Amino acid sequence: MTRTTVEGMLADIDGVRHGQIVIENGLITAVGPGLGKPDHVFGDGCLVFAGMGDVHIHAREDVTGRDNHKETFATASAAALHGGVVHVADMPNNPAAPIDDASYAAKERLLRSQNLPVHFTLYAGIGPGTRPLSRHVPYKAYMGPSVGELFFHSLEELDATLAHYRGRPVSFHCEDPVLLGRHKGAATHEARRPPECELSATRFALAMVEKHGLAGKLCHYSVGEGLPLIRAAKAAGLPVTAEVTPHHVYFDTAMLTDANRPWMQMNPPLRSPADRAAMLEALRDGTADYLATDHAPHTAEEKRHGVSGQPHLDTFGPFVTWLLVEQGFSPARVAAICSANPGAFVNAFTADRYGRLLPGYVGSLTVLDLRRPMTVRRDELRTRCGWSPFEGVTFPGSVAAVFVRGRRVGSD
Ligand SMILES: [Zn+2]
Repeated sequence: MTRTTVEGMLADIDGVRHGQIVIENGLITAVGPGLGKPDHVFGDGCLVFAGMGDVHIHAREDVTGRDNHKETFATASAAALHGGVVHVADMPNNPAAPIDDASYAAKERLLRSQNLPVHFTLYAGIGPGTRPLSRHVPYKAYMGPSVGELFFHSLEELDATLAHYRGRPVSFHCEDPVLLGRHKGAATHEARRPPECELSATRFALAMVEKHGLAGKLCHYSVGEGLPLIRAAKAAGLPVTAEVTPHHVYFDTAMLTDANRPWMQMNPPLRSPADRAAMLEALRDGTADYLATDHAPHTAEEKRHGVSGQPHLDTFGPFVTWLLVEQGFSPARVAAICSANPGAFVNAFTADRYGRLLPGYVGSLTVLDLRRPMTVRRDELRTRCGWSPFEGVTFPGSVAAVFVRGRRVGSD
């Protein structure tokens, strides 16, 4: 039996307290004061969270290997651990998209054969004419043409397909393809994908959740005007959650320059300073449920040619210290959006229990040091794409340690 005892300021959704965590054979078996001599002690400047999770990433690897120059399961796993993330959920917009039992199993075999320290949950894609898999998995529905061929040309077509997905968890990329088409001649990326596209798609997604009895998740939410719709849906008891990305709460259109434009291109695009402030409040007040990165590891060369998306796994933990130290987020709120809620999402698809510092949960931990700033440097990144939108940024804190099933990463 392997046994590890970790001591420090423990941060969970019910607050912070000093204590110890005993992890035996990879699982938490006890939490409390005075549980014996600790193997690892973290000081008062550190917070010990249940292992953090990112419910929206693009690891890019599939059976074709065509995107392996961007990222692989292994490099995404390394970047995640570097950023303090112990579990991720990987999107299905691969060249060989997992959309049915066979294609999903093929991607899963490729993943599981690598035995990586980070736990991956795989989304299945919903595209024209697809049907639910025979097993319980999360789904992703793309409305707009941002990701190759896995999208619908009309919302009626998506509605008809979603009718088959009753009771399933479906994540929505909210951009109305018809409205996008109307703006495609505009001068800038953000003008080609204006807020009204996301608002219209939000109304549609919420209507689909209600009509077809789905468990809905709205991805990378970015428009302040849409938040009242999400609040109203939640208040009405609709099973709907929302993600917010680091980039939509850190950057906005007022920061765009000719030089940074290609690097700051993503879908949905950066929004106004008011939208940025609204997303921060949404994460704080519970309208949004997950800090999820939409980690999109395109190479520098691809970015120069107008590909959308930014890599964010390496910087997840340092970014969270910005929320804690500079934006005044409570540790309990961070525990909710980074540990407990992502854990609850993936626990539906695995026998493991992620996200809380409680007996029976996986003994994976993310320890943040709020007193040791870190500056993001390109040569320290683990993502294969090799760049970060935060290069040169100094975050107020850093990742002090990561434990995966009781084992401190990088120590043995
Ligand atoms: Zn995405």
